[in-house]
Amino acid sequence: MNLPSIHVDTKKIQRNAKTVVNMCKEQGIEVMGITKGICAYTPAVQAMLKGGVAKLGDSRIKNIKDMRKAGINVPIYLIRIPMLAEIEDTVKFADGSLNSELIVIEELSKKAALLNKIHKVILMVDVGDLREGVLPEDVVDITGKILRLPNIEFEGIGTNVGCYGGVLPSYENTKILVDLAEEIENKYGISVKTLSGGSTVNLELLKKGEIAPGINQLRIGEAILLGTDIKNLKPIPGTEQNTIILKTQVIELKTKPSYPIGKIGRDAFGKTVHFEDKGNRKRAIVALGQQDCGLDGIAPIESSIEILGASSDHMILDVTECKQEIQVGSIIEFNVSYGGMLDLTTSKYIEKY
Ligand SMILES: *Cc1c(COP(=O)(O)O)cnc(C)c1O
Repeated sequence: MNLPSIHVDTKKIQRNAKTVVNMCKEQGIEVMGITKGICAYTPAVQAMLKGGVAKLGDSRIKNIKDMRKAGINVPIYLIRIPMLAEIEDTVKFADGSLNSELIVIEELSKKAALLNKIHKVILMVDVGDLREGVLPEDVVDITGKILRLPNIEFEGIGTNVGCYGGVLPSYENTKILVDLAEEIENKYGISVKTLSGGSTVNLELLKKGEIAPGINQLRIGEAILLGTDIKNLKPIPGTEQNTIILKTQVIELKTKPSYPIGKIGRDAFGKTVHFEDKGNRKRAIVALGQQDCGLDGIAPIESSIEILGASSDHMILDVTECKQEIQVGSIIEFNVSYGGMLDLTTSKYIEKY
């Protein structure tokens, strides 16, 4: 086993996918499984599919290409607005994309015509979180323009909250989408197939039965991959947590003072640091650092171990209170949050199992 490494419990991910798919199906909602949090790691993606997810989404075209290479042939959507620099790959490798700029959709249309393909477009609507999306008052007008573009299928409208502004989903902000779809249908005489209402943070609303009727898709990553909902700070009922464990090894174990010796300047990242003098403490250094993962993205499974800090590749742990016996060579295990999962799966220094 290579260290440091992350260990992905694909059985748990499969069961989480099934739980989330069933939870949504009860209310007539399909799940787009979002793979970006785990860099579309193939075994995890396959677990999602086995759990009943029939459609995938990722924010990175590279992950989408990798999934195609791995033989995954279900519909995949690019869920970050395509760059003008990635139009060709978007049309080639994704079935559709989330969009908010007419100029981008026009380029998708041209490229799709050249490649003799139909590209599906979900128009994003900004209902208040102020990340991506056209403002509600502009939706009907821009939809008319999209409908005229060759080789583009206007599939529907979508929204996203809880990302930049931290706005929580509500009946009111999901209802905006439903009302807009009705307006579009009346004006253009078409049926709006997909109303993509949001992400993991919407599951709480779904559970309470407060999602506006008519929403028929959610784009879910975190609830399946980790069984958590970081925005509401709780586990998703019925799912399993601790799906991913990080392991690394102790490379130094010594008792040292807790207050640095000498004049204190700044740390390796230019930050001023503060120390509390707790006398001598037993400290372990593990092979892991900020190059691999932000400090708040992981937590030792043994709760008596405390993370003191880390430079780019040394992480210092206070193990004074630790009940398990630790020596040089001991393996320390950590749980990971969404941010930790993102960092660790992106790092080329972390092996995935
Ligand atoms: C990341 C992302 C999601 C999934 O979010 P989770 O919180 O992991 O469920 C959904 N939609 C968009 C546009 C995203 O960028």
